[in-house]
Amino acid sequence: MPQTQDHRPISADALDRDSFYIDGRWARPATGDVIEVVSPHTEQVVARVPEGRPADIDAAVAAARRAFDEGPWPRTSPAERIEVVQRLSHLYAARLGDMAELITIEMGSPTSFANLAQSPAPWMQIEAFIAIARDFPWEAARPGVLGSEVLVRHEPVGVVAAIPPWNVPQFTLVSKVVPALLAGCTVVAKPAPESPLDAYLLAELLDEAGVPPGVVNIVAGGRETGAHLVAHPGIDKVAFTGSTAAGRTIGALCGEQLKRCSLELGGKSAAIVLDDADLTATMEGLRFTSFMNSGQACVAQTRVLAPRSRYAEVVDALAQTAASMPVGDPADPATEVGPMVARRQQERVTSYIEIGLGEGARVVTGGTGMPEGLDRGWYVRPTVFADVDNRMRIAQEEIFGPVVSVIAYDGVDEAVRIANDSDYGLAGTVWTADVAAGLDVARQVRTGTYGVNTYTMDFAAPFGGFKASGLGREFGPEGMAQYTEVKSIYTPPPAG
Ligand code: NAD
Repeated sequence: MPQTQDHRPISADALDRDSFYIDGRWARPATGDVIEVVSPHTEQVVARVPEGRPADIDAAVAAARRAFDEGPWPRTSPAERIEVVQRLSHLYAARLGDMAELITIEMGSPTSFANLAQSPAPWMQIEAFIAIARDFPWEAARPGVLGSEVLVRHEPVGVVAAIPPWNVPQFTLVSKVVPALLAGCTVVAKPAPESPLDAYLLAELLDEAGVPPGVVNIVAGGRETGAHLVAHPGIDKVAFTGSTAAGRTIGALCGEQLKRCSLELGGKSAAIVLDDADLTATMEGLRFTSFMNSGQACVAQTRVLAPRSRYAEVVDALAQTAASMPVGDPADPATEVGPMVARRQQERVTSYIEIGLGEGARVVTGGTGMPEGLDRGWYVRPTVFADVDNRMRIAQEEIFGPVVSVIAYDGVDEAVRIANDSDYGLAGTVWTADVAAGLDVARQVRTGTYGVNTYTMDFAAPFGGFKASGLGREFGPEGMAQYTEVKSIYTPPPAG
């Protein structure tokens, strides 16, 4: 990990902003519309930033278009671009504490998770993408079948619309902006209205790193602003992370306009506990992979598949794990489960707990109502359901909160079948004393990523979803390739 500056808490009056980052400048908004950022813990407004409207997006796209069509950035060498991104990496490393704190303030991510993942992981992505860019086949000759040589070039795809969600806002912003930069693209990013603050810090770091004007432009706004950006004729590619519902709409529009598009969407991942699993180690793993970020994680292991012979044991162990997690103020380092991002999310998660009860599932721990000792904030009690059938809505639909269902299976084949009986295909895990048996399961589950006795994403490798979990991949050389168009240049065979 990098050496970061000593972190001093950010003062409350430093959070308000009155401009967007467009064309390398802090630009005045087109309207007086304001986003109020509300603390999910106190329910008080903690910051005000301008709300991006279509006219702001138009200005940002015009700047990105100019920077792509006429500016130096797409014409620089990969080595020159790497140098700028390397400067960004150094600057980013020094601000990890600030970045994590901003994310905790705006969307309530527990500081324990924010400092472990919300800001270090984007920094690791930057470093991983730099390494990938060094070896990437930007221009490579290959022998043709006609005796000639073919030159295959990866050229920048153009102006990219980068649209992240609020749950891991930097993780999903950096995963788009950095490969786009390294590939020579220009970008208009639209952070979610729940989490605009971290993006302002990124804009400052990009500026300080010497990214030329117009190469990255940042305008926060809501769904309609995002839709305007996606449909904008000046955009060549859309890189989106968010819900499957929005992904379908965006994918349809990109299909119609033949825009390139990558979609990182929802999940309903299954953790398969094999009958030889060490339950202590398994519970340590699930404590993190099922409940990280208060359950607001696309890769959360929200279906736990237990062998019928050990079903009661797994249910008890998981219930004890969930009940032991401190719930409360996300700024408290001891907190493991913080609030939901918004009241509507608290209501949504609570309504799923009611749906589960209505479907005949049994709450073993948690349930509706506020966690003990809390009387404000958008909290939900960490909840474990037993007696869940995989066809129930709580087992099929993404809840996006600290709610996990335990489902019984008979035999590994049935476990794999249940894991695959889902519209989604983002992630999964298997927990076993026999790694070879785990790998065998991993090969059969139809998801884009999989963990054997762990789920630690590695930015050297592609990440993304099968089925309704998305299209395309982020990270790894495969992720870099998504920001390129491939061109083949034919040359005549050598004379004689
Ligand atoms: P969301 O789809 O409501 O919004 C995501 C972003 O898209 C926001 O910035 C939003 O303003 C914008 N947006 C929404 N509709 C749009 C449209 N029609 N056109 C353009 N922009 C639009 O999702 P959310 O509630 O912010 O995030 C939670 C979802 O994100 C969950 O489903 C989660 O699984 C998913 N997610 C997926 C990954 C992944 O890598 N697969 C990672 C994190 C989150």
